[in-house]
Amino acid sequence: MQVYEAPLRDMRFVIHELHQDDGFGNLEALEEFTPDLVDAILEEAGKVAQEVLLPLNRSGDIEGCTLENGVVRTPKGFKEAYDLFREGGWCALASDPEWGGQGLPEAVNKMTEEMICSANLSFSLYPGLTHGGTTAIEAYASDELKQFYLPRMVSGEWSGTMCLTEPHCGTDLGMLRTKAVPQDDGSYKISGTKIFISAGEHDLTENIIHLVLARLPDAPEGVKGISLFLVPKYLPKEDGTPGPSNGVSVAAIEHKMGLKASATCQLNFDESVGWLVGKPHKGMEAMFKMMNTERVSVGIQGLGIGEAAYQSAVYYARERLQGRSLSGVKNPSGPADPIIVHPDVRRMLMTMRAYNEGCRALGAWVSRALDAEKHATDPAVKQRAEDFIALMTPVVKALFTDLGHESANLAVQVYGGHGYIAESGVEQYARDARIAMIYEGTNGIQALDLVGRKMPAHMGRYLRSFFHPVSQFIEASKGDEQFQPMIEALEKAFGALQLSTATIAQKGMKDPEEAGAAATDYLRLTGLVAMAYCFAKSALIARDRLAGGTEEAGFYKAKLATAQFYFDRILPQATAAFLAIKAGKRSMMALEDAAF
Ligand SMILES: Cc1cc2nc3c(=O)[nH]c(=O)nc-3n(C[C@H](O)[C@H](O)[C@H](O)COP(=O)(O)OP(=O)(O)OC[C@H]3O[C@@H](n4cnc5c(N)ncnc54)[C@H](O)[C@@H]3O)c2cc1C
Repeated sequence: MQVYEAPLRDMRFVIHELHQDDGFGNLEALEEFTPDLVDAILEEAGKVAQEVLLPLNRSGDIEGCTLENGVVRTPKGFKEAYDLFREGGWCALASDPEWGGQGLPEAVNKMTEEMICSANLSFSLYPGLTHGGTTAIEAYASDELKQFYLPRMVSGEWSGTMCLTEPHCGTDLGMLRTKAVPQDDGSYKISGTKIFISAGEHDLTENIIHLVLARLPDAPEGVKGISLFLVPKYLPKEDGTPGPSNGVSVAAIEHKMGLKASATCQLNFDESVGWLVGKPHKGMEAMFKMMNTERVSVGIQGLGIGEAAYQSAVYYARERLQGRSLSGVKNPSGPADPIIVHPDVRRMLMTMRAYNEGCRALGAWVSRALDAEKHATDPAVKQRAEDFIALMTPVVKALFTDLGHESANLAVQVYGGHGYIAESGVEQYARDARIAMIYEGTNGIQALDLVGRKMPAHMGRYLRSFFHPVSQFIEASKGDEQFQPMIEALEKAFGALQLSTATIAQKGMKDPEEAGAAATDYLRLTGLVAMAYCFAKSALIARDRLAGGTEEAGFYKAKLATAQFYFDRILPQATAAFLAIKAGKRSMMALEDAAF
């Protein structure tokens, strides 16, 4: 059964208590968002997720999207839910007030994204991609395009897409073939085929604004010859009402493993009118602006599914009666004990719980950096925030989606055979979660981005934005007797990360395949250390709150127990990652291609 209640207490903990001293300071521009206001927004978002979106999750999965005579229909109830969502101002949360947005702190915005993804991942893509599109338009489009398109997209009146993938190229966009031919009036005619376009066509908004990567006639080969264009589905009239159709047609919608209520479309552009966004041949730069925002959000999708899967598994583990507890009968009036008593079931529940709390804490840290990047007045703080975001974006994307999928799989296991049956609802989580590891750049590509670009950038400056706070925390906490084992474990894992960084830098310089072979393990190790740092800090805070006397002793005791579980049972994975990195590429590349 899909049950979900927004984890508001933990969200308040990471926003208000955990990251107050992480070097990004208090941002004057966000002072109006007092803790009370933030809590009220989170509570309302929780209601929308639970009451509007969750009830459509399973029905949307069963019904899916349909294509008939070129028209795509979303499942029953989606249009009404989208209208409610838009009218409630939820599309505009994080956008700039200049364009009608609410300028909410990212730290709060990402929490609302988590709730929406927990409740209905398919739904989340419609407003999610629009937000990504507005980021690229805001940063790179002409004033004229901004004035006309941004207010309508920010409000959710029009939606957006991101059109990169073509049948012969996904990761390697340098091969893309869609053409853009300049016209005398300054516009371009775009022709080509894009596949797998999320929200490419649907019935939720009256217009859809496609951001399309294409090549100009004189474009250099490869990624240096790609430009970005804004292409509306309908050419809007001056007052914004939809005008004539713009030659964008849907050839097919994909039949997928999951995410069935999100329309994934094959789009044909036939001399569609578009306008350049940014400079000619600099489309990848503009698209990366959009993709970086989206990559953190895709990481949050993993967390959202992980949380929903966890809650459903806990619900079932309390209800399902099988076997007796190894430490003596716990449910004498029943024929058996609930499965939550069994250590192996606990192992699964605690793993999911630790993944979710660890990801939420790390996500909130990155969100604070996103806010500092936008609003900090001190250039040093702004720089540190930019460095930290650059480093952590691939980590958040890949780690959170890997762990979200693992949690969904664990939830199926907790349900046993019933988890494999559709009625349970948890197999949907496993199917839905799978795509987040693939789109917005596969997780393997995220790992290559981390070791190939982020790790060596500016002689390791990005890394320092992360390593400094961790080593300072370790030094400052060394005298803490009660938490000595935890701090030592963090120090050991951090040491393994530093050593791995040096090893990869050294070996990778001589042989890039060595860096490629280490990448995925290095990303995991980075994520494990980052979460360990968050858990150690959380444990110290919880201990102090408990010592000071609190009405919320249950929450802080649980936080301490989860942190301890993380250090006992999850952080040891860091040693395995370290050993794998140390082993290098040797056995990975040993077989001749023909031997596979
Ligand atoms: C449901 C869904 C929604 C999507 N939404 C969108 C969308 O809205 N817009 C859009 O443009 N696209 C979208 N995509 C496409 C998605 O982004 C791509 O599928 C993804 O980027 C991978 O590209 P590919 O499928 O061509 O795989 P390939 O690029 O063919 O990769 C195959 C495998 O090879 C690995 N690989 C490839 N190159 C390298 C390399 N250099 N080094 C190491 N490993 C490598 C990859 O990691 C992967 O494991 C969507 C896809 C799906 C399924």
